[in-house]
Amino acid sequence: MIKKVLIANRGEIAIRIIRACRELQIPTVAVYSEPDAGSLHVSYADEAYCIGPKESSKSYLSIPAIISVALTSGADAIHPGYGFLSENADFVDICKEHGIKFIGPSSDSMNKAGDKATARKTMIENGIPVTPGTDIIDDPKEIKKFAKKVGYPVIIKATAGGGGKGMRIVNNENEVEEAFNLCQTEALKAFNNKDVYCEKYLLNPRHIEVQVIGDSRGNVVHLGERDCSIQRRHQKLIEEAPSVFVSEKLRKKMGDDAVKAVKALKYEGVGTIEFLLDGENYYFMEMNTRVQVEHCVTEMISMIDILKEQIRIASGMKLSFSQDDVELKGHAIECRINAEDHERNFMPNPGKIGGYVAPGGFGVRVDSHAYAGYDVLPYYDSLIGKLICWGKDREDCRKRMLMALNQYVITGIKTTIPFHKEILNSEDFIKSKIDTSYIDNKYSKANK
Ligand code: ADP
Repeated sequence: MIKKVLIANRGEIAIRIIRACRELQIPTVAVYSEPDAGSLHVSYADEAYCIGPKESSKSYLSIPAIISVALTSGADAIHPGYGFLSENADFVDICKEHGIKFIGPSSDSMNKAGDKATARKTMIENGIPVTPGTDIIDDPKEIKKFAKKVGYPVIIKATAGGGGKGMRIVNNENEVEEAFNLCQTEALKAFNNKDVYCEKYLLNPRHIEVQVIGDSRGNVVHLGERDCSIQRRHQKLIEEAPSVFVSEKLRKKMGDDAVKAVKALKYEGVGTIEFLLDGENYYFMEMNTRVQVEHCVTEMISMIDILKEQIRIASGMKLSFSQDDVELKGHAIECRINAEDHERNFMPNPGKIGGYVAPGGFGVRVDSHAYAGYDVLPYYDSLIGKLICWGKDREDCRKRMLMALNQYVITGIKTTIPFHKEILNSEDFIKSKIDTSYIDNKYSKANK
């Protein structure tokens, strides 16, 4: 078993990892930036080291600083969480060179799975449906040619993209050149890789993703799907499991394809295969090679601790269960509690939290690093917590979530709590009349 884990992250996910390690009786090492000294992950970990100033590039993304702390503290493994260095294949190699286990896939399978264009190729070779699209393009004329075949709109995507960045929708021929140039420039700036490709842009699809886990012995299982269609600007806000749009038959088909994808990529660790669902047709969109923010909804319906399983697998252990052991029960919903003002286009709203009272009770889970007096910093993402509820069915879960949202008190800053209440109370949510453009359409209309 791994002996000591350094957590190369902050916020709620750092706490989630510390909790899993503690249950596995593995000591933890936290790292933090100067302004993060008051963050809960710092006091929760067994040891904590300051690794630099507020800028992520000089702290949470500083590979030399993180490796130095791992070596001096005697950590033999690093958990990257999500974001920051979690999908950086060079970091995986550097960990290896220093004899440190990166808790995640090898750099090779990360490259193969994480690069959208390469992953699409692997899926096509293995008979998994992908959205109609092109290879990497370096001339906007190729976009026009492709669009002639499939029709507008199309979407230009950075092959290294993530977090909703590096994507441009093109509605007609006149927009092609500008969108292409902007996408390349943004990709180069954000991901240091200007490669882009083009896909048919599906109108009003659902975002359905399948949680997968593979061990070092080639065992692969899936834990069913999550529906992440409630998004603003391609970033998820509410996730649920299972999806009301996935029948038992479709679940089996998508699950089998997700397992096939993981095997084709020789992937080890936890990951997510993202699909777009259009009616009964689904298309592979991309693979995320890390634990995701929304992993909790899957944990709630499967009763499988994804983080602990991930750490066990990284230690070289066999998956502790088989596909037949996976039993999905009830329904779970996660609301992302962000320090944002949804009435002003979800503008970040950092600042000091005055009062803080988290909800609780049967089927209620709060994963958060916030507390009364905590200063939400403007330098990092605006997620301050996740409220996850379980119910015996979707309606039971929705009602419990509303009860919990009503009891969640955070004063001093604006949060997405009122937004979630509005959505969960809406007829559209109750009837699941929701697709990936729902929020953007609803709020852009409201702002007009
Ligand atoms: P990221 O890596 O930034 O998360 P994704 O490729 O996962 O980007 O896409 C994020 C979201 O963008 C999807 O959930 C979906 O809402 C939208 N999207 C991406 N590709 C398409 C497409 N071909 N058609 C329609 N929507 C798309």
